[in-house]
Amino acid sequence: MGEFDLIARYFQRPQRPYTGAVRLGVGDDCALLQPAPGTQLAISSDMLVEGRHFFADVDPATLGHKALTVNLSDLAACGARPLAFTLALSLPQADEAWLAAFARGLFALADAHDCQLIGGDTTRGPLNICITIFGEVPVTESGSRALLRSGARPGDELWVSGTLGDARLALEALQGRRQLPPAALQAARARLEQPTPRVALGLALRGVASAALDVSDGLLGDLGHILRASACGARIDTARAAPLLATQGVALGDNERLSLVLAGGDDYELLFTAPASHAEAVVAAGLASSTPVTRIGRIEAEPGLRLVDAAGRPVTGRYASFDHFA
Ligand code: ADP
Ligand code: MG
Repeated sequence: MGEFDLIARYFQRPQRPYTGAVRLGVGDDCALLQPAPGTQLAISSDMLVEGRHFFADVDPATLGHKALTVNLSDLAACGARPLAFTLALSLPQADEAWLAAFARGLFALADAHDCQLIGGDTTRGPLNICITIFGEVPVTESGSRALLRSGARPGDELWVSGTLGDARLALEALQGRRQLPPAALQAARARLEQPTPRVALGLALRGVASAALDVSDGLLGDLGHILRASACGARIDTARAAPLLATQGVALGDNERLSLVLAGGDDYELLFTAPASHAEAVVAAGLASSTPVTRIGRIEAEPGLRLVDAAGRPVTGRYASFDHFA
């Protein structure tokens, strides 16, 4: 099977009528994308590398799902509506069973978000998947309505969606660094391999949240990005954060649990801030998008990050986030 057969068979789907933003998809030198009047494009790329981001023997359908999830999650964090994506794929060989399963996982999620594959590139090489995604956000006279990292203000409350730490728990088990009962492994593994991009929540938080990002490298490290961009500090109530690990039936010490939640990574949940007066609107956004949201702390003027227990006493410990070049 040659390169063009491969593209035609697995990645070129029947052209849909030219409605919406996608005016031309796979097959020409460029795709054509036309954002609606009064909107701007939100664009993000994420690369998944074998051995770095996934195991060589991972189920290709879940890999297709995850490759798109990490990109949809970036749009969610900006409050952008998904439009389309491109796929740059480097493959060691044209394994048809692998390609069929990968495409199935990819398109199931793409269709669920009405996000079309509009182009890409295909070459032979080490397995590497790079998706660039395009979304749209309204822009008004007062500016873009995108949720940015820079909008947090002292007094804002700090919120997070869903659950945290389960992906890391699964990773440690798959690496043989931890033993998990079968049911716990299955639950945690689903969070690692098939995370849910919080697109609906991101859209519902426009005009409600003051700052947002998606948690990919660990809660504390990612929160650091908001704090730097917004030039403020924060306090996290560890008694509210620790229960966010969803996996049941695992014996964990308090510090171990907290470490998974605060520094786990690969969660793809939204971490966001909102003025205290918007608390009800945040809860409503969670309900409207069927996404759990939990308030875990507060933004403060004093720089730095403080962890406190339920009584407000400082909690000590080192909780490092993931850094590819650390
Ligand atoms: P070019 O040589 O102009 O870069 P290619 O031969 O690489 O074009 O690709 C032909 C068409 O197939 C283009 O429309 C390109 O966007 C699309 N394409 C290539 N690889 C993929 C892929 N993995 N997924 C989707 N579309 C692809
Ligand atoms: Mg090409």
